[in-house]
Amino acid sequence: MIKGNPLVMVPGPTPVARSIQDQMGRETISFNDARFVADFNALIADMKALWRCDGIVFIVAGSGTMAMEMGICNVAARDESVLVCSNGHFGDRYIDICARKGFDLDTIKAPWGKTVTVDEVDKKLSAKKFSALVVTHIETSTGVELPLREMTKMIREKHPDVLLVVDGVASAGAAEFYMDWGIDVMLTCSQKGLGISPGLGIIWASPRAIAKRQGMSEISESYVDFVKWIPVMKDTMKYWGTPSVNMIWALAEAIRIIKEEGLEERTKRHRLYAAAIRKSLTALGFSAGVEESLASPSVSVFFYPDASLEDEKFRAAVYGEGAHIGGCLGDFAGKGFRIGHMGNITPAILVTLVAAIERACVRCGYGITPGSGLAELQKAILDM
Ligand SMILES: *Cc1c(COP(=O)(O)O)cnc(C)c1O
Repeated sequence: MIKGNPLVMVPGPTPVARSIQDQMGRETISFNDARFVADFNALIADMKALWRCDGIVFIVAGSGTMAMEMGICNVAARDESVLVCSNGHFGDRYIDICARKGFDLDTIKAPWGKTVTVDEVDKKLSAKKFSALVVTHIETSTGVELPLREMTKMIREKHPDVLLVVDGVASAGAAEFYMDWGIDVMLTCSQKGLGISPGLGIIWASPRAIAKRQGMSEISESYVDFVKWIPVMKDTMKYWGTPSVNMIWALAEAIRIIKEEGLEERTKRHRLYAAAIRKSLTALGFSAGVEESLASPSVSVFFYPDASLEDEKFRAAVYGEGAHIGGCLGDFAGKGFRIGHMGNITPAILVTLVAAIERACVRCGYGITPGSGLAELQKAILDM
């Protein structure tokens, strides 16, 4: 049998559309060639308009973790108090990043599969004065979505001086958020909901966040210092670190695709696809890793129904049937698998994914009727 590459259904990277690949394959020109300068400036304007940012958007070569570092080190100085909320692996990573920076650090950690609540954060912010609050919108290790809209409302109403930093790596291009909700720093990267290859970090910063950095003295970070990049993001003829020319073209194409679909339509589609996947896999006997009200539109955890499915063997079987799914981390390791369902995915991809999972179940001796999960998926797709 000719197999080809499996579908990339891990929670990043996500499938990359042909037209985006074409941009990465273009002949590279200089970052100060007028043609590229014009493309980059137009992209920056689009990124600000789409996510309603009246501050500055930074588009910098690096991964999401770099964007996390850039997101916090510019809005809180050493010894300032920072509160970091963690809903799992990536929230814990943000705690680790902050712990190295000499902040007066406080944390709230939710149990795996749950979220830190608006009330818990309100209590903590009421008890002590904080400069910045860090939350993860969608925690990729559990598939939990934090109630970002309500969290933002509460902070703007009751703690207006606190700068709100959001890890939106698994939400940009998949779940709704807008900077004008009152977010100060939102960060993401290229290989998740935007559907590009890994390589770009993106940080939207509010005018308040920019003012905060400008009012601080020298920070110990250099490459990710807002002050170094502000001139470039205002006029892309300027130079700090060489922009990732082809990746920026790829991002411009990804944004063209998003504008064509409509950002709101796109986030609605993600919720429908996520619900369809949950329906079809629960019909096969897998259980959703989190309760319905917390389930994210971009990534899902599913637990194995019984011991007849052994984690590594099962995921290898799914890979053999044509879909690459992710293992679980932390408290969930070995108990289930993760599926990334974000970006430029289509019903055809969903059908292939569920079909591969069904065949892997049969090959691993887990007695399902092939087609029973697909039947649920088909119904859900027809209802969209
Ligand atoms: C993937 C991810 C990251 C890390 O991004 P990298 O590109 O792997 O550095 C951080 N936060 C969340 C929520 C993620 O999903």
